[in-house]
Amino acid sequence: MSIIARRGVMFVLSSPSGAGKTTIARRLLEENKDLTLSISVTTREKRPSEVDGRDYLFLKKNEFDRMVARGELLEHAEVFGNFYGTPKDPVEDALASGKNVLFDIDWQGAEQLRATMPEDVVSVFILPPSRKELESRLRRRAEDPDDVVKARMEKASGEIVHWKDYDHVVINQDLETAIREVAGILTGATTRRERQPGLEAFVASLLRE
Ligand code: 5GP
Repeated sequence: MSIIARRGVMFVLSSPSGAGKTTIARRLLEENKDLTLSISVTTREKRPSEVDGRDYLFLKKNEFDRMVARGELLEHAEVFGNFYGTPKDPVEDALASGKNVLFDIDWQGAEQLRATMPEDVVSVFILPPSRKELESRLRRRAEDPDDVVKARMEKASGEIVHWKDYDHVVINQDLETAIREVAGILTGATTRRERQPGLEAFVASLLRE
């Protein structure tokens, strides 16, 4: 924890499915104790490897709609026929306590967060090293029914065209290098002067005799 008051960063990671975003996100969380994951709600079916409450909160469509109607989501979007959203309260609590929050969300969600909280959002777009590699990563994963994997490959281009909206772009050719680059972006964001409202008082204490 920082010794002075600071405001948390909303750290948004987006990429086409299969570019390695989830692996990078997991490592960042392990290595940064001041970083917490925003757990999204979704109406998608749970995959075998996923745990409810850890990867997502899996909801019925009517429960999702109720959260939208009550204004309980910071952003929400339809992605490949399923609905996803970011619950508001945990994010606000984390930011207020100086924690950085990691968002694994698509370009639509990133756009909404940028519009509502432009000062807090730092966004990173992760690209695969080639189309061929993206295809083979998607095939290797193969947790989804075939038609979904195929549809995602077709949709990857639709996601990739949004790269220009992001503050930073990282190409995931070598995983360790990509993790180091993304971690560096996070560090750079947290040490920005305007993110540390406690600096004024801190520096005054350094100057006092
Ligand atoms: P998946 O179903 O593979 O877990 O995720 C599909 C896409 O939905 C990914 O691009 C993921 O980043 C995005 N996604 C996950 N949670 C959210 C969310 O809360 N909001 C938005 N807008 N997108 C999300």
